[in-house]
Amino acid sequence: MKKLLKNNTVLLVSSLVFGVIFGFIMKLLPNNLYIDEIIVNGLMRLLGTGFINLIKMTVIPLVFVSLICGISSFGDTKKLGAIGVKTVMWFMVSTIVAIVIGVVCAQIFKPGAGLNCEYEIVNTVNSQESKNIVDMILDIIPSNPVKSMSKGNLLQILVFAVFFGISLGTMGEKSKKILDVFETMNESIMKIVMFVMKLAPIGVFALISITVYSTGTESLLGIIKLIGVFALALIMHVIIVYCGMLKFIAKIPVTKFFRRYAKVAGVAFSTASSNAVLPMSMQMMKEAGVDSSLYQFVLPVGTTVNMAGTAVLQGLTTVFIAQAYNINLSFQAIITVVVSAVLASIGTAGIPGVGMVMMAMVLESVGLPVQGIGLVLGVDRILDMMRTTVNVLGDSVTCMALARTENMINLEKFENI
Ligand code: ASP
Repeated sequence: MKKLLKNNTVLLVSSLVFGVIFGFIMKLLPNNLYIDEIIVNGLMRLLGTGFINLIKMTVIPLVFVSLICGISSFGDTKKLGAIGVKTVMWFMVSTIVAIVIGVVCAQIFKPGAGLNCEYEIVNTVNSQESKNIVDMILDIIPSNPVKSMSKGNLLQILVFAVFFGISLGTMGEKSKKILDVFETMNESIMKIVMFVMKLAPIGVFALISITVYSTGTESLLGIIKLIGVFALALIMHVIIVYCGMLKFIAKIPVTKFFRRYAKVAGVAFSTASSNAVLPMSMQMMKEAGVDSSLYQFVLPVGTTVNMAGTAVLQGLTTVFIAQAYNINLSFQAIITVVVSAVLASIGTAGIPGVGMVMMAMVLESVGLPVQGIGLVLGVDRILDMMRTTVNVLGDSVTCMALARTENMINLEKFENI
């Protein structure tokens, strides 16, 4: 029993179930001031919003520092030459396609429609305001990065972090000390995130009970629909992008690759951490006959910056939350979602739960309510297990494709695995 309670997944699912039951009980009781003022708007709001605020507290430092660490890990792009550029290109293409698939699936299946959640805070960024493309670009270029940080403009912070990361990554030994500092900062912020995540069962309980109390069963149906649509979007991404890359670029038997990958997928699914799977993926590439200099570069970089599964989630969930709150996203807002989700997925660390934390920046980039995350947080572990499997798969597939185009694979060895 003690062991079960220590298991975060069990705790999260239980708090979700108890939150739903509690929300229902409050709903069934006759309307009274005590429930409204003291329980829902008092205690539950304190626990739920307090938890969301703790998440938000970590977002700006996490985005800034983790992106610098991730981007600078590309190192000297001149030295890495064509391989570095091609790796980045594949990662980018796959990430953008992933977000588009997520957004399109959300638009077609509308998992958030009808939830009718309420949003009291006034939008700071008008998602429907129409701006021309020049204004849009100018808006994301930070003329004063310190001001961007104090105002919490994540898109501008991201742009600055990209420049900073690239320049540090190309400075070699000179930037080593500061990069070590950033690495340490990254680790310490991750520790804070881990601590906040320990409080997730309490936050989830409060948020879901408020949701059920104020919106009823439709919210649960919406979340079940979201999980289904998410699974479908991930499968589409795997078929279109990864199977395509394996068949037409790596030119290897797709089923053979997946048979090999099943073991890695099992670990990715159960740990929900790309970082934890990295040694296994390396071993798999080695056994498949891929040149070590290639997989030793592509896989660690991919583990840090290539998160297609997370990108699908961020595209899909952003639209889901907009639908849940009855907020219309203009075409310009959708483009902003794509851009910020690309950066958010790059900035997502390969450990459980971070993709959902980074969702906050995608939501804020288009003025959507960050508390919408509370709608899906209770089931995030399930979503995380699914997206991590795809995140890890993307790194191995890209490595196989590059191995083939760069002639860095021993095909005989691959045949015999
Ligand atoms: N858990 C994911 C991973 O390790 C990251 C995320 O939360 O999306 O790949």
